[in-house]
Amino acid sequence: MSLNIHYQENFKDRHIAPNEADTKAMLETVGVNSIDELIEQTIPATIRLKQGLNLPEAKSEVDYLSSLKQTASLNKVFKSFIGQGYYDNITPGVILRNVFENPGWYTQYTPYQAEIAQGRLQALLNFQTMVIDLTGMEIANASLLDEGTAAAEAMFMQYSLRKKEQGNKYFVSEAIFAQTIDILKTRANPFGIELVIGNHETFEPNAEFFGAIVQYPAGNGEVYDYSHFANVLHEQSVKLTVIADLLSLTLLTPPGEWGADVVVGTTQRFGIPMGFGGPHAAFFATKDEYKRSIPGRIIGVTIDSNDNYALRMALQTREQHIRRDKATSNICTAQALLAIMAGFYAAYHGPKGLKLIAERTHGLTISLAESLKAIGYKVNNQAYFDTIEVELGDLKGAIHKDCLDNNINLNYKGDKATISLDETTNFEDVSLLVRIFSKVKAIATDSVVVVDNVSTTIPAALQRTSEYLTHPVFNSHHSEHEMLRYIKSLETKDLSLCHSMIALGSCTMKLNATTEMIPVTWPEFGKIHPFAPSDQVLGYYTVFDELDKWLSEITGFAAMSLQPNAGAQGEYAGLMVIRAYHQDRGDHHRNIALIPASAHGTNPASAAMAGMKIVVVKSTEKGEIDVEDLKAKAKEHAENLSCLMVTYPSTHGVFEESIIEICKVIHENGGQVYMDGANMNAQVGLTSPANIGADVCHLNLHKTFCIPHGGGGPGMGPIGVAAHLVPYLPGHAVVNIDKGKSIPAVSSAPWGSASILLISHAYIAMMGADGLTNATKYAILNANYMKARLEQHYPVLYAGANGRCAHEMILDCRGFKNFGIEVVDIAKRLMDYGFHAPTVSFPVAGTLMVEPTESEPKHELDRFCDALIAIRSEISQVENGQLDKVDNPLKNAPHTAAVVTGNEWNHDYSRQTAAFPLPYVAAYKFWPSVGRVNDSHGDRSLICACPPLESYMEEEATA
Ligand SMILES: *Cc1c(COP(=O)(O)O)cnc(C)c1O
Repeated sequence: MSLNIHYQENFKDRHIAPNEADTKAMLETVGVNSIDELIEQTIPATIRLKQGLNLPEAKSEVDYLSSLKQTASLNKVFKSFIGQGYYDNITPGVILRNVFENPGWYTQYTPYQAEIAQGRLQALLNFQTMVIDLTGMEIANASLLDEGTAAAEAMFMQYSLRKKEQGNKYFVSEAIFAQTIDILKTRANPFGIELVIGNHETFEPNAEFFGAIVQYPAGNGEVYDYSHFANVLHEQSVKLTVIADLLSLTLLTPPGEWGADVVVGTTQRFGIPMGFGGPHAAFFATKDEYKRSIPGRIIGVTIDSNDNYALRMALQTREQHIRRDKATSNICTAQALLAIMAGFYAAYHGPKGLKLIAERTHGLTISLAESLKAIGYKVNNQAYFDTIEVELGDLKGAIHKDCLDNNINLNYKGDKATISLDETTNFEDVSLLVRIFSKVKAIATDSVVVVDNVSTTIPAALQRTSEYLTHPVFNSHHSEHEMLRYIKSLETKDLSLCHSMIALGSCTMKLNATTEMIPVTWPEFGKIHPFAPSDQVLGYYTVFDELDKWLSEITGFAAMSLQPNAGAQGEYAGLMVIRAYHQDRGDHHRNIALIPASAHGTNPASAAMAGMKIVVVKSTEKGEIDVEDLKAKAKEHAENLSCLMVTYPSTHGVFEESIIEICKVIHENGGQVYMDGANMNAQVGLTSPANIGADVCHLNLHKTFCIPHGGGGPGMGPIGVAAHLVPYLPGHAVVNIDKGKSIPAVSSAPWGSASILLISHAYIAMMGADGLTNATKYAILNANYMKARLEQHYPVLYAGANGRCAHEMILDCRGFKNFGIEVVDIAKRLMDYGFHAPTVSFPVAGTLMVEPTESEPKHELDRFCDALIAIRSEISQVENGQLDKVDNPLKNAPHTAAVVTGNEWNHDYSRQTAAFPLPYVAAYKFWPSVGRVNDSHGDRSLICACPPLESYMEEEATA
């Protein structure tokens, strides 16, 4: 027997699940001899790439991690006093391991299927409650992308709500962080909102202003008393947004108590690593009267079909998938996982623990300030929390050098520096800083005294007296065992990829491989401030350069911007780049976006944010773009055409051959082609956006490139552009990434949620060109296999010329309405079979869109098909009267353990049918924790914070 001593494990064989035997069987069912034959039948030859991808050879998992360790060592982990919205902190181990590093939390989808998502819905409700309490506001959403975009959303909400007689001016305090001002500029521009940047103490509002924004504590560290300012604004009906630091609000009078209309900020310092910029959850809190105008998602309390407490996403009719260009925002993917972590951080420390952390941070800051003053430095602050501004004068160079020698970063500005302290700062750190500042003045360090007897600098009027976080959820889980069990108790209510496939059409729920995730929590990546000096972050730069190059190769474009931190933000960034391009050529009037009727809701919402007018292009009966209609509309609007937004392969799951002609028509009429890259999982290695003729596209790295969905975020939506658009890619106010004619920033951090770019980097590096191309082929094979199995039971809408679908397919459920079965009944019944529903009613109402991905083995595809087929036969039983029209397993789904094991059972079908409809279910049962959730009940009386404990007890008493 000869032994193969060169055997190497392949990552691609772990990622792509079907083995040789499965593949053979699936090809047979599909009716082709090889995968390549299937691909030929699926993707028109005119669209195919002529050559394979030019990417480095695939690395094994072990090799990848060891080479990335080398890259990581190029990052220098300095002690950060930079602040500016990013603070080092301690992720409690119990949260790090059981949430951040746990696929039971990070692989979940957005909680649209509320009955199997009660765990994260509760965790997000905790987050909202925490934000409401600390800010002193009435209602909060379940996270936004970052502090800067949250501020921009607040500005835009106030702009939308302004009175007719109000002007278009918006006051911006000069003491808010530079990156936030940058984003406000980007968002203000398309609407002609005039930003007036100045000092709030000398500003006099008038009727031309609709809003104002200040920061608390301000960027220079000062805690201003804005109560007078708020009164003056309100006398003129001008609305006030306050950017607040959540930790400081344990000590400071919350903005809700002195006149804020909106409070926004980041929750990063509640246990989330800096990660060179993200991901972190921003928050948005406001008054109850604005609830219908709040951007992003809101979790609300309602009841289920058994009248029990249940949670779900509230007020969905505000959102882009329903309101399209009239939506309150384009937010789709937000920062659910990070919001969940921040909420757990608050629950673990509780109000007392948070206050102790805040007091220590505050106290050490005073100690530092007083010690520096004692040795002759000028500190510019009167009242401050964790940040001071120090005059360095001539000593700046020496201090800067000595700090670097001691691995310390300060935030230098001219001949001043701001120094921000945080949860990790201790007395030794303060002593070291004081010694450095003494040494450069030639004061003998042994004669230096660090002041350790301090009391607060915050004036009495700004000291918080109101209580916060009084709910039991923030006062019950302070030992690690309790916290561990609380986290677990919520996790077990949620169905994630740990349980079964989640076949979400358009959302590509594929494997999030463990090896891809591991580096995200390495300190060499986690403990890096986004504004750290460039020579300390060469590891990150290496990763970005490679990822930029690889994604450019994959899309066929000239360059990428890695800044947008969600797909919809990529859309917005791409459209703003197109807008800048037109304007640079003198085409200021080009503002029409053609968008097909079947487009994802974020497309029109993003176009509206970019100030564009939307003209809808019809679809044909076959679900394709109506080329004649497109031609006519492109011609009609040729004068003012800005762009077409198009998804490819289409949202109907088909590679339309006409795409090349479509792009040509747009270009001939002076427009640019924006491709929505959500369906890139059907393109990689076989075709590309540039090959098809697009000018810009975003990639949802949390779909095609393996960043997990996190239950509704994080994500990343970088954009690729053709050469003529490169100069306009987003810049940044703090870190110079200017491309010549860059638009201002679209995210707070220059590389968005930088730390999770590692995941996509790992995926590409370990798959290589062949692996990636094979993944696409298998995504298409898996989809066509399911189509072959399911089309005898469900009509499949749309297919290509040869009857093939791309990587997803649409099952038509509209016909079942005739006997009372709705598509949601099927979605809910799937839960009884242990599955998450596919995409419901997008892009066609009354349908399911199924996307299996390449990471699912045949065995899992079969289980899912078996479930759908069994449900189809239940529908037949309703149809032929064997099952009641109203009292049947579909209408009553999902069935909870409490219902199935209850003493009473009054249905015509058995408990067995209800809960264990197929043999495999009995072997591994996932129990939905609540019955069908009542959406409208909760929207009628909106509750968006944890209800007081008495209300639970009442429920129990009546149960
Ligand atoms: C997911 C998706 C988007 C939005 O992406 P987010 O990352 O959620 O903002 C846009 N278009 C399509 C077709 C999508 O599937």
